[in-house]
Amino acid sequence: MRIGIGRDLHRLERGRRLVLGGVVVSECVGCIAHSDGDCLVHGVIDAMLGAMAMPNIGVLFPDSCEKNRGRSSLSMLVEVAEIVAAKGYVLSNADAVIMLEQPKLSPFVGAMRHAIARSCGVGEGSIGIKATTAEGLGHIGESMAIEVVCVCLLKTLVLK
Ligand code: MG
Repeated sequence: MRIGIGRDLHRLERGRRLVLGGVVVSECVGCIAHSDGDCLVHGVIDAMLGAMAMPNIGVLFPDSCEKNRGRSSLSMLVEVAEIVAAKGYVLSNADAVIMLEQPKLSPFVGAMRHAIARSCGVGEGSIGIKATTAEGLGHIGESMAIEVVCVCLLKTLVLK
């Protein structure tokens, strides 16, 4: 087994769409980013790349690359899951914490788990997602930023 950790932070700006786990959770405030800015999926990707001792998401999907402009981060996750599989591993489980002041994310968590699990080719029981606020404190509390921390475990891929 291999363990990995990922962490991502994005500035938030009005007039943008906020995508988390492939789910649109706000049409009012969203991440400033080159891709679709899916902070949750970026955290999952970095945890998986970290578990393989590979360079982070910015090296694999550079923001200098026009191909990645506005790109769905879930499509990057599919690619990362393929890289992990090619190296003989599969996601055992991932557990992520989203730190965001608003909106409340509980109505969206099921859809996020479903989308991330499907992109990794695993069951929803392998994907844990929790959301928490910063109680009004700091950049997250003032809705200026969103942060995600994710840990994951990869296990040896057993071919059937
Ligand atoms: Mg990011």
